[in-house]
Amino acid sequence: MRYGYSGKILRVDLTNRKAWAEALDEETYRLYPGGKALAAYILLRELGPGTDPLGSGNILILANGLLTGAPFSTATRFSAVARSPLTGAFGESEAGGFWGPELKLAGWEAIVMTGRAADPVYLWIRDDQVEIRDARHLWKRDPEEVQATIRQETTEKLARVLQIGLGAENLVRFGALTNELRHFNGRSGMGAVMGSKQVKAVAVRGTGKYLETAYESQPIGDLGKRLARAVKEHPSSWDLQVKGTPGLTAGLNAAGILPTRNFHQGAFEGVEKLRWEAYEKELLTARRSCYACAVRCKREVKVDDRYQVTDAYGGPEYETIAGFGSNCGIDDLQAVAKANELCNRYTMDSISTSSAVSFAMECFEHGLIGPKETGGLALHFGNAEAMVRCVELIARREHIGDLLAEGTRRAAEVIGGDARFFAMQVKGQELPMHDPRGKVGVGLGYAINEAGADHLTAAHDPTLSNPDSLSFRGAQPLGITEALAPRELSARKARNYAVLENWNSFEKAIGLCFFGPAPRSFIPVEDVLTAVRAASGWDVDIQDLLRIGERATNLARLFNVREGFTRREDTLPERLFQPLENGALAGIAISREEFALAMTALYELKGWDPVTTVPSRTRLAELGIEWAADLVGV
Ligand code: SF4
Repeated sequence: MRYGYSGKILRVDLTNRKAWAEALDEETYRLYPGGKALAAYILLRELGPGTDPLGSGNILILANGLLTGAPFSTATRFSAVARSPLTGAFGESEAGGFWGPELKLAGWEAIVMTGRAADPVYLWIRDDQVEIRDARHLWKRDPEEVQATIRQETTEKLARVLQIGLGAENLVRFGALTNELRHFNGRSGMGAVMGSKQVKAVAVRGTGKYLETAYESQPIGDLGKRLARAVKEHPSSWDLQVKGTPGLTAGLNAAGILPTRNFHQGAFEGVEKLRWEAYEKELLTARRSCYACAVRCKREVKVDDRYQVTDAYGGPEYETIAGFGSNCGIDDLQAVAKANELCNRYTMDSISTSSAVSFAMECFEHGLIGPKETGGLALHFGNAEAMVRCVELIARREHIGDLLAEGTRRAAEVIGGDARFFAMQVKGQELPMHDPRGKVGVGLGYAINEAGADHLTAAHDPTLSNPDSLSFRGAQPLGITEALAPRELSARKARNYAVLENWNSFEKAIGLCFFGPAPRSFIPVEDVLTAVRAASGWDVDIQDLLRIGERATNLARLFNVREGFTRREDTLPERLFQPLENGALAGIAISREEFALAMTALYELKGWDPVTTVPSRTRLAELGIEWAADLVGV
């Protein structure tokens, strides 16, 4: 008997316009209970090496976790996984919102799309009924119009619509997916993969009830009530409720790690105009949430002034404020909100898009590109109008936008000269807006993460730097016993990172948002365990949960090994080994030697070869995935 999951995967062959259900057995699901874990299992087994990420051979997997759709805060996430067109590596991106829970309530754990439709289509899923519908009339249309049209055509006002906009249709390599217009699978170019398959949208309506599938519903119901109150008791979740992620801007500036002018600096002289108080005054219209989440960290904005910004696509998060603000040398919050709206409307990852703009600005400042390439734009740091226009050019693939749409690594190769030093990327994926010179564990994550630079691979160093903090105490059940300074780069830091990475990878497997569980936030580790046991009926402990996360990471690593990735790609942009030019950490750089030693320690902790990064057979056997070594031939 299975609990907490349906055991059903929806297979869609787009080339032959066929869809069917496939059964998922319990033994497999226990090892890979959804999300990143299940998707990595499917991708590694089914995708041949060397497949063109934007060709019909790529496989796009949308996978819920065991707890996605459970009625408690932050149980909202699903993973989108494919070979990434941005990196050529394992591509992965998680989103909250409403679409994942709706798919779960429709009775599906995952959708696996193969092939390529001859003409644009959308999928319509109503519980176990699935249709592949014509979407030619929706192609090139904005998400707001598409969502309204699909709801009208399906006569289902409550249909949840996952879709792509113009940028992803134009195969911008960091094209994203959006659901409910405001929630994004931003990273790794998963929207571009869906665009390459000519799938405009996946709409779903489910009428099931999560608790009816659970082994024991009472503990989950009790947890839901308790967590609704607990949100207010933890400083991290309460801060998120009051300010959302825009509340981070001023603090990171004061700490000297607010990326400024393409990571040259860590403090921005215009931060007063970007901080939360300015956001609240100048932009904010409302607060919103994801499915059943009491944190309510989403912000709604509207502007009718220097720029017109609709409230249809959600407000800028911290990453977007820093990306289009300080990192482009811009202190105009309205321009930032406009750039955010364009990214969301055209479904492009705002981290990679803003990084592409700051990269282009640095190239412009150095004369590597000029008005001829930019279509006349004076792309200097600080030019807000040029920044907004550049986002349009990327989505439409016009002028310099066509090259930037390829990502900064490819753009730098074409531009040549010093441009390669201006591309702030790892494995081809652009850095999020957290400077690892002030929190070095984040740098280990940027370097080692299979999908390239990402800030959601583990709790950030400051979370575990104070032994008296709620967060540090919350990490004890995971086996973390040492509070370490944010800038300590050592084997001890590598150990903490390895544990936290396994925990975060597990969260992605079961569908929990980064802002929910301890140590980052308000859901104690023991409560996560209670929820997993109550949902599934499995007799598991915390070490079993960590192993789920580690297993998923090892599968992703083996995927990369098969594609030819080695330690050479697990590195950081050269600039991070250079000193910051200003702010609280002026003169501080990451030490190359310490970084190399910590990375070696991390590989050893993981049981990976420190040169090839191939996982050892012993470790894979302990994780129950020796089959994967046979498959990859290592
Ligand atoms: S914490 Fe914020 S992003 Fe996470 S599920 Fe809740 S509302 Fe969504």
